[in-house]
Amino acid sequence: MPELASHETCLGCHACEAVCPTRSITFQGDGFFTYPHIDIDTCIQCGKCEKACTSVRGGYEKELDDVSQTFYCAYNSDGEERAKATSGGTGGALAKQALSKGWMVCGAAFDEGLRVKHILSDKEDILDKIRGSKYVQSDVTGVYEQVREAVKGDRQVLFFGTPCQCQALVASLPMAQRASVLTCAIICHGANSPKVWEDYVRHEEQKVGKKLVGYNFRSKDKGWGAYRSALTFQNGTTIRRPAWNDVFMTWFAHDYDTQEACFHCPYRIEKRVADLTIGDFWGVEKLFSDVPTRQGLSVLIASTDKGKDFVKDVPQLVLTEVDAVLVVKKALKGYVEQRTEEKRQAIIQRRKTFEEEYAQHGYDFMAAKYPAQTYWGRVVHHLRFRLRQLGIG
Ligand SMILES: Cc1cc2nc3c(=O)[nH]c(=O)nc-3n(C[C@H](O)[C@H](O)[C@H](O)COP(=O)(O)OP(=O)(O)OC[C@H]3O[C@@H](n4cnc5c(N)ncnc54)[C@H](O)[C@@H]3O)c2cc1C
Repeated sequence: MPELASHETCLGCHACEAVCPTRSITFQGDGFFTYPHIDIDTCIQCGKCEKACTSVRGGYEKELDDVSQTFYCAYNSDGEERAKATSGGTGGALAKQALSKGWMVCGAAFDEGLRVKHILSDKEDILDKIRGSKYVQSDVTGVYEQVREAVKGDRQVLFFGTPCQCQALVASLPMAQRASVLTCAIICHGANSPKVWEDYVRHEEQKVGKKLVGYNFRSKDKGWGAYRSALTFQNGTTIRRPAWNDVFMTWFAHDYDTQEACFHCPYRIEKRVADLTIGDFWGVEKLFSDVPTRQGLSVLIASTDKGKDFVKDVPQLVLTEVDAVLVVKKALKGYVEQRTEEKRQAIIQRRKTFEEEYAQHGYDFMAAKYPAQTYWGRVVHHLRFRLRQLGIG
């Protein structure tokens, strides 16, 4: 039988599923994530799934070309769009430009049940649907196939996704069609469990007694760096809270429900896998002292000639080229993996324990055992921290 990635090594990119000529691979499981399974009755042992899987192949570096990367500080000149986006609204400006050229755009959106799924469209309303980070693993089932069909019919596609999803899409396309796709990866340090997210949504709906119709993982009502979430219910009420007061965001911060393989992500290196990469330009003030950051700034990295050509001419994008070495050395903490192996193993162990307990007891028990901080808890936490800094206690 072909070798597929294990629970420990599967990034959840669905490349194996996308390349299977007999549709013998499906993602299954009722835990935090789903994993690939082969139907042995229909598998023809062609080995395409093994070749497409970065984890099984043990890396991807050799496939990257040698074009030097260009780094930009970027933001969307439309203030409203930028305010609604997660960092500088760069993703939105790129998507708008693609639509205006007659391309299709593919990115992660909420469905009516607030599940996160990739969608493909050439309609203007995709811009609102895909805007904003959803810190949950997006379901890409079937979407690479849709892109493949679109490019076969001579369409061009701008694809947004995590680096592993960008690579999976490219791997699933015949060589001749790869030029029709421009990939834009988000800087990603790991995706959270769709199962935990669904349970969280249900719990919040029960608390308020209304359907949750919108969720902003990074509301900018107090600025870009404030880390606040905003929950919008069917009756129009919006609850905004700091991330430390939100159970889902607290677990995210502790990596309790991150996909295990993300701790050893092969794409979290300086040389980026996609044509373009966008992320939060954390640390930008270390490079420019007077830069206005309240509404968010993106780092934009163009890693291929195709990517460089595309960003040259995006009307809504304000770009300042920045020195790559300075960016990586002085700013952008977390852009490449910096934690030691020992530290990562400790987090993985803690996360495993969390998943086992969760499987046994369910969401409500875990929310009580691993709660978000209350306001008073936060005050005490800060006081303890200050006292420790002063060498007292
Ligand atoms: C799981 C996750 C982890 C991240 N970790 C980091 C990090 O460690 N450091 C950092 O600098 N930035 C990180 N980001 C990216 C960052 O939050 C912003 O999404 C990015 O800077 C783009 O913001 P924007 O304002 O330019 O565009 P926006 O308009 O906010 O566009 C966001 C784009 O991201 C895509 N997207 C949203 N959610 C997902 C998802 N779940 N899976 C795949 N694609 C998605 C959408 O399709 C959209 O095109 C992460 C994002 C996600 C989803």
